[in-house]
Amino acid sequence: MPVRGREARHTAFRAGTARRWHNQQNEQNGYQVVRPSAAQGIFYQDGSLKECVCWVYSVNSSEDIKVPHYLCHEQPDLLDFETTVIASRPGAVVLARSALHPGGGGQVPDAATLTHAHGAARITGIAAEGDVLWHLLDEPLELSGDVHVAIDAARRSTVAQLHTGTHILNALVYQRFAGALVTGAQINADGTARMDFDLPEADNDALRLLEEPVNEVIRSAMDVRTYYVSATEAKSTEGLIRSLSVAPPPTPDGTVRIVEIGDLDRQACGGTHLTNTAQSRPIRIAKIENKGRRNRRVRIELV
Ligand SMILES: [Zn+2]
Repeated sequence: MPVRGREARHTAFRAGTARRWHNQQNEQNGYQVVRPSAAQGIFYQDGSLKECVCWVYSVNSSEDIKVPHYLCHEQPDLLDFETTVIASRPGAVVLARSALHPGGGGQVPDAATLTHAHGAARITGIAAEGDVLWHLLDEPLELSGDVHVAIDAARRSTVAQLHTGTHILNALVYQRFAGALVTGAQINADGTARMDFDLPEADNDALRLLEEPVNEVIRSAMDVRTYYVSATEAKSTEGLIRSLSVAPPPTPDGTVRIVEIGDLDRQACGGTHLTNTAQSRPIRIAKIENKGRRNRRVRIELV
């Protein structure tokens, strides 16, 4: 019988004890814990873990272990799920599992509706504290027990369209402006985004002319796929790490997630994207600004 509610919260805060126990279990089973996150688990009364999110790799090299990454990357269509509150403070909860994208690299996090025993609240943001993701609520509730979470699908879609659009824009800038790198990005839920490029010599009119080629790529229905490569391969392959400001998204096993758009582009990224460019509305280049001597800021929006 797993501990739930207040008891779960209590045991979750004894994570140090559970973590040691958990490390032992993994070592016995031939796994080495890279990023233990025992606080994200469902506990038995004796403090042992029933299930948890645990980053491991096999120390038996013959065994190919599937290392957990973001649930939203493994199951991008999972927008509704049941879970359990395993830690709570006024206005925030830690969930046993979560399919929300926590944001990062300029992308805003997912939002969701959380239905609990006494009603519903909005998850409006996510705050990472170490390995623990606190889901922030729009009310100062202190919750426990089983909950249902429904991710805001329209917001996820808007962000994925824009994020895919920024990759296309980035690819065209990289190709046409001598390997210019990204110095910053912001992808918003209101259908707007901006990208900053290290482009000291660029003509703003030439940048503005990229709007039509970006939309051509969208219309050409290129498949977007994701896979993981070793950090060594990511660093040694030219053009794979495209950002000067954002490190490639960390994964527990030291691999780097690659997002590939047809034969146009591939680059390291941990965000949410479409699976085909044709799923996107067209984009418009709304504004180009000079930010300092080297940087050009390109603002785009979904039409
Ligand atoms: Zn991306």
